Amino acid sequence: MPVTDPNPPVLEIRDLHKSYGALEVLKGVSIAAKKGDVVSLIGSSGSGKSTLLRCANLLEDSQQGEILFEGEPVTWRGKGPGRHPADRKQVIRIRTNLSMVFQQFNLWAHMTILQNVMEAPVTVLGEDRHEVETRARALLDKVGIGDKCDVFPAQLSGGQQQRAAIARALAMQPRALLFDEPTSALDPELEQEVVRVIKALAEEGRTMMLVTHDMRLAADVSDHVVFLHQGLIEEQGPPDQVFGAPKSERLQQFLSATV
Ligand code: ADP
Ligand code: MG
Repeated sequence: MPVTDPNPPVLEIRDLHKSYGALEVLKGVSIAAKKGDVVSLIGSSGSGKSTLLRCANLLEDSQQGEILFEGEPVTWRGKGPGRHPADRKQVIRIRTNLSMVFQQFNLWAHMTILQNVMEAPVTVLGEDRHEVETRARALLDKVGIGDKCDVFPAQLSGGQQQRAAIARALAMQPRALLFDEPTSALDPELEQEVVRVIKALAEEGRTMMLVTHDMRLAADVSDHVVFLHQGLIEEQGPPDQVFGAPKSERLQQFLSATV
């Protein structure tokens, strides 16, 4: 009998390889987030951070390595460049449980904020509309825009739109949240209102993977920080070590260029 971990990570990636044509973007990356962990990914533009998150929730195929959700490996059809997930139900389960928040919010422009938050739980999960509405309103309250239910995204500031996008991700009741540079598109004064929401989620014990250029945020919320360089993990560790005593020269250079 194989020994199974009774408490597997929510998300685990083992030796993941991903290429776009001849360009190898991820060259064997392993990373895991246990329940309640906040794992931050830092690194230069082009180092593969977004690709890693997109592969993790199966928005992108990968060519080699394993992706496990709560200990259950993704089942693949085919091998190498031709492989893709074999089980549609599993893909939906993983995508809905690893809710993603994007840099550009990606709200639906033709729907109100409330409709944006309700859409996926109702149409993808088939949940009861009234129950979803109650939850959606509570989530919009929680992120501080409970008064914006009936407006359209274009009527909100970037910070408000991103908070709506976070409420939308939470509405799926995911096991983990994946953030891809959630504050990068925002003016500094609007950045802070989103940072506060992310910190509150970390304090609640949410499991999160966070790609960010905001080193202060990464230092404040993370249990573990991973520095990616050209598709490989160059250095990783607890935030006080990665930020306070970086060992690799590349990480030292990266940190001195970003502060
Ligand atoms: P990061 O998020 O760290 O800035 P990305 O994961 O977006 O990096 O990109 C890593 C590399 O992959 C970059 O060289 C980028 O140009 C390339 N890349 C990303 N997406 C695509 C794509 N859809 N097609 C081809 N190349 C891509
Ligand atoms: Mg990116």
